[in-house]
Amino acid sequence: MTDSPRTIPHWIDGAHDAGAGDRTAPVYDPARGVVTANVVLADGDDVARAVASAKAAFPAWRDTSLAKRQTVLFRFRELLNERKGELAEIITSEHGKVLSDAGGEIARGLEVVELATGFPHLLKGAYSENVSTGVDVYSLKQPLGVVGIISPFNFPAMVPMWFFPIAIAAGNTVVLKPSEKDPSAALWLAALWKEAGLPDGVFTVLNGDKVAVDGLLEHPDVASISFVGSTPIAQYIYETASKNGKRVQALGGAKNHMLVLPDADLDLVADSAINAGFGSAGERCMAISVVLAVEPVADALIEKITERMATLRIGDGRRGSDMGPLITEVHRDKVASYIDIAEQDGARVVVDGRGIEVDGEADGFWLGPTLLDAVPTTSRAYTEEIFGPVLSIVRVASYEEGLALIDSGVFGNGTAIFTNDGGAARRFQNEVQVGMIGINVPIPVPVAYHSFGGWKKSLFGDSKAYGMQGFDFFTQEKAVTSRWLDPSHGGINLGFPQN
Ligand code: NAD
Repeated sequence: MTDSPRTIPHWIDGAHDAGAGDRTAPVYDPARGVVTANVVLADGDDVARAVASAKAAFPAWRDTSLAKRQTVLFRFRELLNERKGELAEIITSEHGKVLSDAGGEIARGLEVVELATGFPHLLKGAYSENVSTGVDVYSLKQPLGVVGIISPFNFPAMVPMWFFPIAIAAGNTVVLKPSEKDPSAALWLAALWKEAGLPDGVFTVLNGDKVAVDGLLEHPDVASISFVGSTPIAQYIYETASKNGKRVQALGGAKNHMLVLPDADLDLVADSAINAGFGSAGERCMAISVVLAVEPVADALIEKITERMATLRIGDGRRGSDMGPLITEVHRDKVASYIDIAEQDGARVVVDGRGIEVDGEADGFWLGPTLLDAVPTTSRAYTEEIFGPVLSIVRVASYEEGLALIDSGVFGNGTAIFTNDGGAARRFQNEVQVGMIGINVPIPVPVAYHSFGGWKKSLFGDSKAYGMQGFDFFTQEKAVTSRWLDPSHGGINLGFPQN
């Protein structure tokens, strides 16, 4: 049976919108390797229409009472919670991650929605009475206007939800440009907002590629850009949006290391390495890509990891598998090429994921979990982000050697230490040059009321995602100095008031 591909439109002014141009991109079901839809790619007219709609919706949404905005957010939270199964199926059908992992991504997004429902408390300003005689100073946190969000393929629901619940709660209107590889989750969320009572134009989905992104970066009515994706594009976004006078946060790529000290619980380490290395087929910016084994633990650890890898079921994410396919054939081939590179550079392929048997269609974009040992730190397989199910073991002689390797990389997203030595863990959290640290926790994604973001080339801009930094990013502060006139308190004074 062949699918007849449907067309995935934009969402503008509270309705599907076919777009003005005729460019499209194929959207695949990665577990079957077939095109299931074609997504429209915005041209300049579409960008203009999307931003104009968001701009028109802004004044009324900004002035909507906190109580009414909160009602919409609570309703959105309830609807999402009731129907998250539908969204998980959409994510799996376009991204390929297994259904339980799609559910996990929604749960992490829901956390941010739940945080955002408490926005009236979080957006309170400060008040100082009588700063000078009869004079008060207070601050207001006001929305920015139209805010742009540009998201990657690997979390089609969660990453947009890192930003839009807070942006909308704070009174902004949002134009989301999702990844063209798996755009349907964003449209589903847009329809849910409408059902929750969000006025038309407050949440827009603009589908597209570089043309849509550049249109948002250049548009004078877009106040800010929140970007998540690969490092070269993040750097481009940061520089271009800044040059155009926009507020910008651009989260980039990663190469996360797990440092294993000899006193660590090796069973916990092996379980964690499997979960963090192969969950979502390694297509996570917080995936563990390198295990730094402080000798003499490497051989014992490799044995434990290998035993566990043999139990993993690879296949269609709708069939109860542990790990699904990669996003596209091109990406699968790129990830597989790193195994060749590592081999040529002298690494040992302990478990080879190339050409494995799977519980899925032959044309799916498969690559099995792969374990490499003794990967040279000069190899591109070590220095570059792979973004697939390839876990590298690098043997080091000491904590210091491991730390130096982590700090020598260009990325600084996440890292983890596994040890039973509290002093060593404390020293690591203090010394390491990385933004998010796990101590006996392999994927240390902060909960919604903290903030998410790396250091170095993993984050451009000075604002992380969600938490209080999210509220600060999506608001601008106004300081008001006020005096209500008292006839006894007049007179000319050319200096600053001092009492
Ligand atoms: P990507 O950089 O290819 O695409 C991200 C977004 O940018 C998409 O919406 C895409 O349409 C757009 N884009 C792509 N090329 C562009 C160009 N030349 N000009 C303008 N816009 C362009 O990233 P991806 O492949 O979708 O996602 C994977 C990457 O995202 C990995 O590097 C991963 O580490 C990173 N990521 C980082 C985080 C984080 O929090 N730091 C989270 C998730 C993913």
